[in-house]
Amino acid sequence: MPNPRILILNCYSDNHRGARGNPWIVPQSIAPAVLAGMLEPARVDVRLACEFRNGPFDDFSVLQWADLLVLTGLNPTFDRMKQVTAYARTVNPGIVVAMGGSLARMLPNLSRRYFDYVCSGDVEQIVSVVDAVFGPGHAADRPVPRYDLMPGTRIIGYAEASRNCNFRCSFCSMTAEDREFMAYDLDYVRRQIDAMGYRQCVMLLDQNFFGGPRAYFKARMALLKEMFKQRKFGGWAALVTADFFRDADNVRLARESGCIGFFSGVESLSRTQITAFNKKQNLVLPQEEIIRSCLEAGLVFHYGLIFDLVDRTIEECLAETELIVANPRITLPSFLSFAIPMLGTPLFRNRLREGLFLPNVRLRDMDGRSIMCHPIDHIGDAIAFAARMDKGLLSKRKLVAHAWQFFRHYRGKLSNWGLLSGMGNAWTMSYPRFGSNGRDGIRPGRDGCRSYLAGSEQTGSLYRPRIRIPERYRVHFEPLCVTDRNGELHDDLIDDAASLLHLTTREVETIPAYNAIAMP
Ligand code: SF4
Repeated sequence: MPNPRILILNCYSDNHRGARGNPWIVPQSIAPAVLAGMLEPARVDVRLACEFRNGPFDDFSVLQWADLLVLTGLNPTFDRMKQVTAYARTVNPGIVVAMGGSLARMLPNLSRRYFDYVCSGDVEQIVSVVDAVFGPGHAADRPVPRYDLMPGTRIIGYAEASRNCNFRCSFCSMTAEDREFMAYDLDYVRRQIDAMGYRQCVMLLDQNFFGGPRAYFKARMALLKEMFKQRKFGGWAALVTADFFRDADNVRLARESGCIGFFSGVESLSRTQITAFNKKQNLVLPQEEIIRSCLEAGLVFHYGLIFDLVDRTIEECLAETELIVANPRITLPSFLSFAIPMLGTPLFRNRLREGLFLPNVRLRDMDGRSIMCHPIDHIGDAIAFAARMDKGLLSKRKLVAHAWQFFRHYRGKLSNWGLLSGMGNAWTMSYPRFGSNGRDGIRPGRDGCRSYLAGSEQTGSLYRPRIRIPERYRVHFEPLCVTDRNGELHDDLIDDAASLLHLTTREVETIPAYNAIAMP
């Protein structure tokens, strides 16, 4: 019997007008490699593809080659999964399609309309899908991500020391999933680092590298220190929550074990906004103090800012960014985004209950750059603000001055990598369009290429089939609607209202749209 041929694809709908992939953005996804690592290499033929890195997947010969297509991706990729499935079934009618990720947990009923297997469990579930399709015996003896199937590099490698998160921020898909934090055993962490080969930096992609018992954290530090001394990598970086910085000893331990720096979800310097986000861990210390003390200890600190125009005025958001750029002792943000009420999150439920969603919002609009809810300010001003975010909110003169003073203060304290990446944020803030400036297929270079308003935004060329597809797959190219013309939950999502809104079946039946659909 020949080995099953499996294609694992990380789906992504890019916001760049070229939809060209983002190979230089850190971090990259290792989800396909982790999934492939669950299967015994000698018993399967696996290929991996990543649309985030390489842009829209259009290698139809690989879709013809595969017996099983496994789709993964973040919350907004449901449409893209449907589109790829339509292509796969058109060129290879016998193909079996499985999908997983948070969408499988949020939209189990809708997903079953399009995919053969809807995997709402953890990554290990891929083994039961492969065994169900091809017969038993495909589990790997010692799972480890298939780095050998990823593009070769010696610069950055990715690993994980845990899964899920021990916090419950209101906007986060982790909160929607509500799964328990789980630390991996140290042997698995070691195996990952050994398997990837030497990298200048190993980035630990955990939602919270600091989660779990303190003793385990210290054991992880000891492991990293040992491997750093053995020159298995040049340094490491991780995502941590703000409570990590409460004890200066944590930063010291990290530094001794080869740490270069951290990403931490600052989101806002406003305590009111942080409270609204239910991000209690960010209230333990003043955030500006955390960033400064981390940098002074020789570790770079990266973060993003999230603007929620339902809670804050544009003026407040602008004042926050001006405060930051005037302070060269802290890094500039790595990105700016609007708060996204992602499916199933408390923010989603609250916005829906309070009637704050705009009409005709689609999943495609949940990109952090489109206005989705009624803002405090006039909606025209909010749209203009969104357009400014795309062009750069801060003056380039101020950004250059910040970078220069940052360099002068930290050049003797941060490593070269830390200094370079810290100063790189001035570039990101100066040219945010490099990351997001439209929809692919829309004429470039025109201010009108985006409306920044959910519901009226162009969906882009991904939504136009690239080959002739049978009529029954046309529906795969329609964007998933989140709200209807009244700003209420769209009919397409009613079947999944229980998981999206955390309702009992009885409560779901009280939703007017449900009754309209359920009536004979
Ligand atoms: S700490 Fe980060 S990963 Fe955890 S729930 Fe909050 S935003 Fe999500």
